[in-house]
Amino acid sequence: MSPIPGSGLAKGLAVTLRTMTKKTVTEQYPDVLPELPPRTRGVIGLFEENCTVCMLCARECPDWCIYIDSHKETVPPAAPGGRERSRNVLDRFAIDFSLCMYCGICIEVCPFDALFWSPEFEYAETDIRELTHERDKLREWMWTVPAPPALDASAEEPKEIAAARKTAEKLAAAQAEPQQGGES
Ligand code: SF4
Ligand code: SF4
Repeated sequence: MSPIPGSGLAKGLAVTLRTMTKKTVTEQYPDVLPELPPRTRGVIGLFEENCTVCMLCARECPDWCIYIDSHKETVPPAAPGGRERSRNVLDRFAIDFSLCMYCGICIEVCPFDALFWSPEFEYAETDIRELTHERDKLREWMWTVPAPPALDASAEEPKEIAAARKTAEKLAAAQAEPQQGGES
């Protein structure tokens, strides 16, 4: 059967009309920043105060794109007669984002909560060598990490918080004791 003359034009117009009345999905980036989900894997932030230079993240990274340098420092004994201790001091912490595949293994394996996902994504470079970012930049990104979601009201208290609260209560009780003793 031969097509009705003008049916093609009618079909085309129908598609145009349908599209015109649909909600637009064009993102007005960079004028309007996109609303990203809280768990977006944009870039990795470093909270270096928590880093003990254990090297676990660098060893587990499948791409070998985490570079860490450190040196040892001797710490004097905490109490007279005690032993000196040695600790690792971080000299360099860098991630090559031209190699990183955003698997998140480094963040998962870090035993000291020193690495976090940030939703920041505006760090494109024209030179691939500039995609190796050092600790200062990783630290800046740390401040763009969103706060963790609130706990469920009926959830059990996390054991870290419970332990910290008990220690604080013990300290407060120990500090209050001599004062009470002095008053009596
Ligand atoms: S996200 Fe994966 S590839 Fe990227 S630095 Fe971490 S472990 Fe390496
Ligand atoms: S695993 Fe964590 S604590 Fe260990 S070196 Fe990496 S960032 Fe630092």
